[in-house]
Amino acid sequence: MTDANSVIRSVNQAEEIHDGLKVRGEIRSHNGPAAPGASGSRPPTDISMLDLAVHIEELLQSWSRLVHEESSDDLPADNPTAQALFMRQRAIWIAGAAWAPDMLDELDDATRKGTGMLGMLPPRTYMPEPCGICHAVQWIYHERPPVVRCQAGHESELQEHLQGREAETVTHAEAAWVLGITRRGVGMAVKRGRLTTGADGRVTLESVRVRLAKASMCP
Ligand SMILES: [Zn+2]
Repeated sequence: MTDANSVIRSVNQAEEIHDGLKVRGEIRSHNGPAAPGASGSRPPTDISMLDLAVHIEELLQSWSRLVHEESSDDLPADNPTAQALFMRQRAIWIAGAAWAPDMLDELDDATRKGTGMLGMLPPRTYMPEPCGICHAVQWIYHERPPVVRCQAGHESELQEHLQGREAETVTHAEAAWVLGITRRGVGMAVKRGRLTTGADGRVTLESVRVRLAKASMCP
């Protein structure tokens, strides 16, 4: 079952990775082959970064087109920012569509590839709940340890937000995002008992919270 928060998160992450790929790919291309007679060729990563950025553009375009066709809402402008906004605004509707899991799989797959290619986590990840002080939108900033910061600058520790959510679980990919490690790293932590899984095989939020608390004690 897909929920609106998952839709918003996947769309946000795809958009941010897209922007990162564009910037990094274009910088490298410009620095690359430039001067005639310069030795060495452009590293292949430029092209693959820009290719993946185009792939994400195509995903956002085709999925927002499907939303437009099925909902008869006006088609957004033909750019990733407008299409991502369009989909976030319809997250609840999208979550109810039969094809929502396919959309998230495709977006998340591209996001993971892009994350690996950029060799880093995106600078921030959308947080489903608003700021407890001013109710503004807030984000997880992937610092060590991660910090939650709202638009107005109120800061809190991520682990506070996970208090009292012992029973909840997240996917390996989500645990990897939050902990700033790879999915393989999550798998290894599960094997070693440093992260625990629920009956559904997903990672318990409680064990993620404990890992985060340890990370903040010994940076
Ligand atoms: Zn705030």
